[in-house]
Amino acid sequence: MRTAIVVGGGIGGLGAAIGLRLRGWEVTVLERRASTAPAGIGLVLQANGMRCLDALGLGDAVRAGGRPDAGGGTRTADGRWLARVDGDIMGDLLGTTAVGIHRATLHRILLDALPPGTVHSGATVTGATADGTVTYLSGGEQTRRADLVVGADGINSAVRTALWPRHPGPVRVGVVGWRGVTRDPWPGDIEVAISWGRGEEFGVVPLLDGRVYWFAAINAPGLVPGDPLDAVRERFGHWHDPIPAVLAATDPAGVLQDDLRCLDVPLPTFVRGNVALLGDAAHAMTPNLGQGANQALEDAVVLAAAGSLAGYDRERRPRSQRVARASRRIGWMSRTANPVTVAARNTLMRVIPPRAALRSMARYADWTPPPLEP
Ligand SMILES: Cc1cc2nc3c(=O)[nH]c(=O)nc-3n(C[C@H](O)[C@H](O)[C@H](O)COP(=O)(O)OP(=O)(O)OC[C@H]3O[C@@H](n4cnc5c(N)ncnc54)[C@H](O)[C@@H]3O)c2cc1C
Repeated sequence: MRTAIVVGGGIGGLGAAIGLRLRGWEVTVLERRASTAPAGIGLVLQANGMRCLDALGLGDAVRAGGRPDAGGGTRTADGRWLARVDGDIMGDLLGTTAVGIHRATLHRILLDALPPGTVHSGATVTGATADGTVTYLSGGEQTRRADLVVGADGINSAVRTALWPRHPGPVRVGVVGWRGVTRDPWPGDIEVAISWGRGEEFGVVPLLDGRVYWFAAINAPGLVPGDPLDAVRERFGHWHDPIPAVLAATDPAGVLQDDLRCLDVPLPTFVRGNVALLGDAAHAMTPNLGQGANQALEDAVVLAAAGSLAGYDRERRPRSQRVARASRRIGWMSRTANPVTVAARNTLMRVIPPRAALRSMARYADWTPPPLEP
């Protein structure tokens, strides 16, 4: 039986492990964290990510654990809609609706799809070689070899550092982001929306249990000192409803702050010998298109389905790097601080016909994975 070591038990690594097992591989996942609970809060799985989960046999479980995206759009800081999309129309266009889900729920569904013992927690990979040998720390230094090594160890990938030593690694985007969730279910309806100000943006996503996941971002040279929720309230507490109320209903202890980074220099290949990179290890992108995890799932299914690693690289690298570039561009537009560009952006957004807005939003989500035949 062909053997694979997957480094990293995040969304991409677990997805790859499930896909490879469906194709008959014997898989071990090495995960640095001692517990399997993921960091982070909410996530939107778009049509491409949902189709990948369908290919892995997990689409229905994820739909049951998440909340279908009823639609939403882009607003200004005072609440005027710039563009709005109906979730049902988008769902009809793409054949599946997007799903807002808590990361812990998605992680649990992925873990439950693997036999016990597949994931080795508390195993920190320190090196890898092109022949498929991995060195890791787990109660002392250990070495293991496999026919395939998958570097799914995120933006600071040790596998990438070992095998792509000349790559400069991630860079700071110049943006600080915060994420939080309301303590209790929201009393009433709330639409998925991203509101754009001048150099600032705020988004809300309802979760299945009724709580509201929110994220905020500003242009900033580094982490903002002090209490994170206070910092968000100071900047966004006067924005349109329901933003002030969402912040008031948030537990300060659960708010995360990130100095956002991405892989600015695209990798010339995702493959070296018997080793392939996927997910953030291969193409960490800014969160503006909400595609990072969706792209990691695309990688996972294509890798499992691919006849060769060269085929995987050919299929995945151009698309994931195109999505990363587009995400960066949208970030520049959404957080422009120049009043003239803000006015031009808002006018442009308002005059785009609804069908064109729909097509542009569907552009990156409209992707179908290859079948995963056993
Ligand atoms: C603010 C924010 C909002 C986002 N929102 C969205 C969204 O709405 N939709 C979306 O699709 N994406 C979103 N993303 C992006 C998404 O979170 C990532 O793209 C996705 O989690 C990448 O998955 P991954 O499995 O490649 O990496 P990760 O999730 O980073 O997983 C890597 C795993 O490898 C483990 N690991 C690391 N180093 C080692 C080592 N040396 N040895 C062993 N294990 C190791 C880590 O512990 C981790 O479990 C967002 C990102 C941010 C920052």
